[in-house]
Amino acid sequence: MFVICGAGITGLTIARELLRRGVSDILILEKERGVGRHASGRNSGVLHAGIYYSPDSLKARFAVEGNRLMKEYVREKGLPIRETGKVVVARSPREVEVLYELKRRADASKSRAEIIDETTLREIEPHARTCGKALYTPLTAVVDPISILRALVEDLRASGRVEIRFGERCMGFGNGKIITEQGRYPFDFFINAAGAHADRIAHAFSLARDFLILPFKGTYRRLRDEKSHLVRGNIYPVPDIRTPFLGVHFTRGVDGTVYVGPTAFPALGREHYGLFPESVGEAISILYRDAVMFFKNPAFRYNALMEIRRYIPGFFYRDASRLVEGLERGDLLASRKVGIRPQLVNWKKKELVMDFLVIRDGNTLHILNAISPAFTTSLAFARWVVDEFIPT
Ligand SMILES: Cc1cc2nc3c(=O)[nH]c(=O)nc-3n(C[C@H](O)[C@H](O)[C@H](O)COP(=O)(O)OP(=O)(O)OC[C@H]3O[C@@H](n4cnc5c(N)ncnc54)[C@H](O)[C@@H]3O)c2cc1C
Repeated sequence: MFVICGAGITGLTIARELLRRGVSDILILEKERGVGRHASGRNSGVLHAGIYYSPDSLKARFAVEGNRLMKEYVREKGLPIRETGKVVVARSPREVEVLYELKRRADASKSRAEIIDETTLREIEPHARTCGKALYTPLTAVVDPISILRALVEDLRASGRVEIRFGERCMGFGNGKIITEQGRYPFDFFINAAGAHADRIAHAFSLARDFLILPFKGTYRRLRDEKSHLVRGNIYPVPDIRTPFLGVHFTRGVDGTVYVGPTAFPALGREHYGLFPESVGEAISILYRDAVMFFKNPAFRYNALMEIRRYIPGFFYRDASRLVEGLERGDLLASRKVGIRPQLVNWKKKELVMDFLVIRDGNTLHILNAISPAFTTSLAFARWVVDEFIPT
């Protein structure tokens, strides 16, 4: 029996890959009552094109292939997709230099990206602003993550070889069994795909003790319908490539709504979507860890200071209007879309972990730091994970 903890995109695509290899007995344990309650259902839905990541990273290795496989899956299932490509715009000459670095990274990932001038930019995105040059990535597309998760669940169940138990939380591990609120499950192989809780599950196996997750909240605003013509597809800023965050961007979703965001501000809980955190104890320990990171890590500090300003509507508007012209303050409406990015930190080194981290120990496998672009990479990443680590 293969037991998987977590029915997010990581757990579901690994289960799918196991099925493709002929595995016949898979159990997925998911604490929520349905799919997509966390990162996999609360993201921007962008299929990234492999332009941001350090060439030696797993992110770079699987982004282009993941993008291709996910597009193929979406087409096969007849799910919505918007293939508009994306532009990355520069706000200063220094940022133009970073565009060239992104172009180098895209080339190293065997992606497609071109440096374009302002005239070409206007043909692609007539209202985007830039400082002389921009980067265009035609492979970028936007999908509807929830419909993909549902299709995967349907496929897995239709096989008759996978059982998904919703509402069943993994609590720990003892005597060779996974312990949940409802029972104990023996396993031949266990896969931890618990997203924001993956560090806790790994700790229950006495693994990854130097790593812990710090949550970052991603809030979005929505562009007023009357102004949505200002954005055709995706307009992104040049990111701070020392952090894993891409900066507040404009994304036209599959239903035509243009979202602006997400922010990346330290959250007070792994599922702190609303105003108040779920647990005061957790909030205090996160605040302590954030404070330590703030003083010890300059990139973390810079990001936190930049992000806190975005809670002030004037600053959020100012950042957004540096990417798109013709935007007025009242055009950015409140939105209920919010997600949490569970960012892994190497606590010993006080560093943000930039890549996915996979730990195999005996007959258990732990997927840590499945942060963006883990939705994009999922199908390619799952193939590699099964090839490399899981005996089938
Ligand atoms: C705001 C935001 C925007 C993003 N934008 C993009 C994007 O545009 N493109 C892209 O490629 N990626 C994007 N990402 C990243 C992407 O969404 C995630 O990397 C990906 O969804 C992670 O999937 P996962 O399955 O590992 O985690 P999750 O989706 O969090 O799934 C983990 C599952 O495990 C369950 N679980 C946790 N603990 C337990 C337990 N103890 N017992 C049982 N079940 C448990 C959870 O309930 C959850 O359903 C974004 C993320 C965020 C937050």
